[in-house]
Amino acid sequence: MDVRLARLKYHRTMNKITNILRKIVSRKYRRMIRKYLGLDLVNKFVLRKKNLKLANPTELAVELTTACNLKCAFCPHDKMPPSFKQKDVDRSLLDLIIENVEGFSNKRIHMNISGFGEPTLSRHLFYIIEKIKKNFPLVHTAMNTNGVLLNETTRKGLLSSGIDSITISLNADTPGNYAKIMGADYFDKVMENIKLFFESVQNNRTNIEIAIDLMDINNQEIKTDVRNISRQLSRYPHLYHIFLRPVLNWGGVISGESFNAEREKKNVFADRYPCISLWRTIGVDNDGYIYPCCLGMQLREDSGLVLGNIKEVSILDCFNSDKLKAMRRYHLENNYSKIPECEKCDFWSFSPNIFVKDSSSGHWK
Ligand code: SF4
Repeated sequence: MDVRLARLKYHRTMNKITNILRKIVSRKYRRMIRKYLGLDLVNKFVLRKKNLKLANPTELAVELTTACNLKCAFCPHDKMPPSFKQKDVDRSLLDLIIENVEGFSNKRIHMNISGFGEPTLSRHLFYIIEKIKKNFPLVHTAMNTNGVLLNETTRKGLLSSGIDSITISLNADTPGNYAKIMGADYFDKVMENIKLFFESVQNNRTNIEIAIDLMDINNQEIKTDVRNISRQLSRYPHLYHIFLRPVLNWGGVISGESFNAEREKKNVFADRYPCISLWRTIGVDNDGYIYPCCLGMQLREDSGLVLGNIKEVSILDCFNSDKLKAMRRYHLENNYSKIPECEKCDFWSFSPNIFVKDSSSGHWK
């Protein structure tokens, strides 16, 4: 198996273990358990020995719509230029993406159908999941939603579509905090939707991964958030895990200062490493533009991140293009300023560092 793929799978498993541990033991003991089991050593010395190339992206992000029904304070949606239109993707474009996946030699990929909008607003939501699951059962389908429209129709449609995992961005633990962060007074509605969704999952005995996202706003507050949400969902302890999400800067558009001053103070850029997205991800926006990461969907077609348009060039050609190879090289050589979009972006810090630094050149491999 490709070693980079193995590392990614390893990290995903580790995240799951950490999330389970988070519910039952404190941070100090979690660290001790990882150390005692030698999990960090496995990562460091066994999985990093070789460095092979991936044949195709293992993460495919597909944008169904650019429309959104919230105004989150950490999202640059309302800072977009007037040329940015909120609209649904064309079904023909989704069919083209499916044709592209047909050409992948490794179809065990992770496909997220979210992009820069709220997917439950798209009329193609069930169509794309059903088609993918029918044609490529090995593809892991996932979506992020704010849960506002997780009504009976959406719940039924999602569960019968065969989707593998859903992340609900709740981001707060009280109506007041929710309104402040998400820009609307929907906390009670979303909590009710989550509970009804859990009931449907239980009744249907559906095997689906569910994560509840909470914003990791200055460490002290988040502990209360996790406790409050866990208490409210105590009837369904085995159905979901809580995922703590840091506030990212969307390529420098958003400042984390107001949400996570602690993280800002640490200056994540001081310990910069290459962005794993360049080796594993392809994002396709609702106009067919192809990017090497999810951030591209926010910077859109005028940014230097565009690798082509799926109407003219295939995903595989973009993934193996000279442009993307050069971007990977710049990252390995710590030459981030060669890509202005990457220079200011902190998305790379959201994924683990799977690279090793060469002590003489300072480059990564
Ligand atoms: S650093 Fe940011 S802009 Fe650059 S590839 Fe990674 S996510 Fe995209």
